[in-house]
Amino acid sequence: MRVALFSALPHDRAFFTEANPAYGHDLGFYDTALNEESVALAFGIRAVCAFVHDRLNADVLAMLASGGTELVALRCTGFNNVDLHAAQVHGITVMRVPAYSPHAVAEHAAALMLALNRKVHRAYNRLREGNFALEGLLGFEMAGKSVGIVGAGAIGAVTARIMAGFGCRVLAHDPAPSPAVEALGVRYVGLDVLLEEADIISLHCPLTPSTHHLIGTKALERMKPGAMLINTSRWAVVDTRAIIGALKSGRLGALGLDVYEEEGDLFFRDLSGQVLQDDVFSRLLTFPNVLITGHQGFYTREALEAIAHTTLVNISAFERGETSGNEVTTALLAD
Ligand code: NAD
Repeated sequence: MRVALFSALPHDRAFFTEANPAYGHDLGFYDTALNEESVALAFGIRAVCAFVHDRLNADVLAMLASGGTELVALRCTGFNNVDLHAAQVHGITVMRVPAYSPHAVAEHAAALMLALNRKVHRAYNRLREGNFALEGLLGFEMAGKSVGIVGAGAIGAVTARIMAGFGCRVLAHDPAPSPAVEALGVRYVGLDVLLEEADIISLHCPLTPSTHHLIGTKALERMKPGAMLINTSRWAVVDTRAIIGALKSGRLGALGLDVYEEEGDLFFRDLSGQVLQDDVFSRLLTFPNVLITGHQGFYTREALEAIAHTTLVNISAFERGETSGNEVTTALLAD
């Protein structure tokens, strides 16, 4: 089947080209993101393959449908960039790659926690300047601390297991508790209890209407003073203004991010020769206790192989008129 891959980066070309012989699809790679300006490139092509920064709003979906596109095969887990209601109206099937490698993101969340706790980002810079002072690098031991997992699905469950391995007490908040997660010794609690008791909070829920700005002023006020917040989920699960206020007041002790609200304008590109135009992002970069990575949680060899294979399996299933079990419907918005 002909497939137009948008936002194609070198790793997409490499991993999809390597995996495709087993599936035999006709893959076309486009560097550009999918949006109102670029959608014409998909005209007459039955499937588009999109990533996190592609804009699949009602207008784009209407144009895709009028051009004959029937399938949006997301090569990611999150689906917040797709207007699922519009897709339904236009009869476009949406598929995703759930849980391609939960270890990739969970391990990245753990990396952010440890780096922030032991100030690895600061130590790295200091040593290169010949500064071997310890002051300002004081950390705490993970063992015995309480870690709160918001969204204990595929990634949250692996994060919980890693934290349990450190000797942490793990709390989870999720509307759909899992016996397998409980078996790790994790205690499910309401969000308020998690906010009050956790020394570190790691966000692993999807961005949906119910999780939008879940961590705002009220939630931040409930958190332990000086607690650490890690967000490898989607930026809008937190409220930007409230977060910056809490960092300025010291209420929030540390912030680790792999996602950002306007990341589509920044991430996955080398902008090192340009003046940064985003004042909020610039402000976040000024805090010594904020560590940001550019949406690289998924970026492991194992995850990229799994993403390519599952996406191609989804496309093949659609072509045969079968379901793969990875369809995304409006029912998921009810979570
Ligand atoms: P998942 O569907 O397996 O798990 C999500 C969990 O969140 C589910 O258990 C669900 O019940 C729970 N949830 C839903 N609404 C909630 C709420 N209001 N409060 C608390 N929990 C809630 O998904 P996953 O594979 O674990 O991925 C989680 C998210 O991580 C994705 O939606 C995506 O946004 C993000 N992600 C980021 C990267 C990255 O590179 N940084 C990569 C993959 C996924």
